[in-house]
Amino acid sequence: MSAAPLIVGGGMAGAALALLLRHHGAGEVVLVESHALAAGEAPDTPSFDARSTALSAGSLAILEQLGLQNAVLENAAGIDTVHVSRRGRLGLARLTAAEQNLPRLGAVVENRWFGHVLLRAVEADPAITLRAPASLTGIRRATDGYEATLDDGEELHTPLLIAADGARSRTRDWLGISARHRDIGHDALIANVGLAEPHRGQAFERFLDEGPLALLPLPGERMALVWTGPRDDVDRWMDLDDNAFLAALRERLGRGMPRLTRVGERARYPLVLSEACAQAVPFAAVVGNAAHTLHPVAGQGFNLTLRDLELLARRVGGDAQPGRLALLEQWAADRRADQSQIGHASRWLPELFRVRQPLFAHSRQLGLLSLDLLPAARKGFGRRAMGL
Ligand SMILES: Cc1cc2nc3c(=O)[nH]c(=O)nc-3n(C[C@H](O)[C@H](O)[C@H](O)COP(=O)(O)OP(=O)(O)OC[C@H]3O[C@@H](n4cnc5c(N)ncnc54)[C@H](O)[C@@H]3O)c2cc1C
Repeated sequence: MSAAPLIVGGGMAGAALALLLRHHGAGEVVLVESHALAAGEAPDTPSFDARSTALSAGSLAILEQLGLQNAVLENAAGIDTVHVSRRGRLGLARLTAAEQNLPRLGAVVENRWFGHVLLRAVEADPAITLRAPASLTGIRRATDGYEATLDDGEELHTPLLIAADGARSRTRDWLGISARHRDIGHDALIANVGLAEPHRGQAFERFLDEGPLALLPLPGERMALVWTGPRDDVDRWMDLDDNAFLAALRERLGRGMPRLTRVGERARYPLVLSEACAQAVPFAAVVGNAAHTLHPVAGQGFNLTLRDLELLARRVGGDAQPGRLALLEQWAADRRADQSQIGHASRWLPELFRVRQPLFAHSRQLGLLSLDLLPAARKGFGRRAMGL
């Protein structure tokens, strides 16, 4: 009978949690992932795909605890400045690492490299059992935990079951936890773009009429584009040939923005925001996209998750009864304020910048201007955004 926490989903959240639990004293951990993961190779799964992730300074500090910061940074680009702007308006805010007294505001890593680093660390730890490809086919409540059945018929006993299997989590459903899903009718188009000159560690967040667009630095003279908008617009952007696509993009970027020379393969992601109605029940917890899926506007989804995971691992990692409801409920309660602030901001920002009434236009312009003019406000905003 195993006493190991069992994590369902070996994406960013599940893999990071397995490592954090071990770091904080868990003797053994079982990680179940439905996609095949070839040892030593960069993964290709729904989590570790063609996207890139902006990791905040706070996330890098958590990865440093695991001894993984250097490996991540080996193939990442540091963010030294973030420029926030609105098309057709004056207001422009600028956050800098120097102002925050940080070596960098964060770093951008391609998901496949990030997955490679996390999964290599998972594979190197003999106390983490990685089952992939494998899926759960059901769970049954026991007096002291859960019995989980794998698709090969094997039954695993666990004192703590963790649902990290994404926004449409079946594990969460089996636990009887419902979730609210809000389809905002927008998609995110992602692609890597080539530059005419180095990006010098600059990231750009630009609010357009259709929705926000982000350009994030990548190693070399490349940036990761995340362009969000209504599905019909995204259909059109996907259908454009490369030259027409770059022209449409340049037209929206305006002066002072990087000069783009080429675009790589484009992919799209439907933006369905979701939230689990509970994250802690007896002998089980819900984390990552299964707990909350945010608008990618400020690149906060995984950064928020990593803070959830670090606290969870710290609370339950070394505990002989990690599934105790009091322990899990206290963890969920202690994470509520951060989750609710970041959740509100990522819902509110794209809405605010979509409203076209002059009063709103004026106040948001003032907001951006004051952010640029008032170092204290900027510092406070920057520290929250960096997860500090
Ligand atoms: C366009 C875009 C850009 C983003 N950019 C950023 C950013 O810059 N910064 C940031 O912090 N966040 C960003 N995010 C958010 C980030 O991608 C998510 O926070 C992250 O993917 C959550 O990881 P996860 O492991 O919870 O879920 P997922 O990535 O959905 O992974 C779930 C995993 O579970 C596995 N799985 C599913 N079902 C089962 C099953 N039954 N059994 C076993 N395994 C199963 C899947 O194969 C997958 O590996 C972005 C999101 C989008 C859409």
